[in-house]
Amino acid sequence: MSATIVLLLPEVLGTYGDAGNAAVLAMRLRWRGLDADVHTVGWDDPVPAGGDVYVLGGGEDAAQMLAVERLRDSAGLRRALDRGAPTLAVCAGLQILGRAFTVADGTRVPGLGLLDVETVPGRGPRRIGDVTADALLDGLDDPLVGFENHGGITTLGPGATPLARVRGGASGNGTGDRAEGAVGGSVVGTYLHGPVLARNPALADLLLTRALGDLPPLDLPEGLPSSTAGRLGARFRGPFSSAAARRAGA
Ligand code: GLN
Repeated sequence: MSATIVLLLPEVLGTYGDAGNAAVLAMRLRWRGLDADVHTVGWDDPVPAGGDVYVLGGGEDAAQMLAVERLRDSAGLRRALDRGAPTLAVCAGLQILGRAFTVADGTRVPGLGLLDVETVPGRGPRRIGDVTADALLDGLDDPLVGFENHGGITTLGPGATPLARVRGGASGNGTGDRAEGAVGGSVVGTYLHGPVLARNPALADLLLTRALGDLPPLDLPEGLPSSTAGRLGARFRGPFSSAAARRAGA
């Protein structure tokens, strides 16, 4: 059986190359000898409810206003999240899953209400630059790295916790407390582009492990420079993986 990575609306949530996150998820399964497909949901397509991992990317204010209306009545996305399908939401994707967001011209738009966050325009210049942040999820050993570029600042409600604490670089959620991203239920939201899963393979494996359980060892292509192989081999060391390691007597 093939695993399905659902990439949502890359025509409007694709400005920052975040569609690459879906490619990374599928490729890390294929490198393990597992079948994987990327199911791209275009503007006119229904959202399937039965995907294994869902991925939303970033976009401009106007684009994310289109995306939120397109997804508002999507029974497929709601059903997927109700059953706990792991979902990665980057930047505008994070904002539209929240309770509401206000864009730069002051328009307040109700979000999809699937993550307990709200976004308002920040003061001053856009938050643009490289970020290094210490991950707060069990099993992610290495700092997260990425590039942020956003005007909105995002405050978490009691139903969400930060994904990471900014160690250096730009601002994370922009709330002044070094919080980066938001985790709630099966949603992992972040401001990090890169694409974030290309730069942080252990986060990709965390999502895949949540969706599919223990993953077989990674069989990287031959001939990669050792630095690349080391980076690509970075693994999520969470509960599923340690259970697998114990069974294997490691
Ligand atoms: N339009 C949003 C903002 O500027 C999101 C930007 C993005 O997705 N990079 O805050």
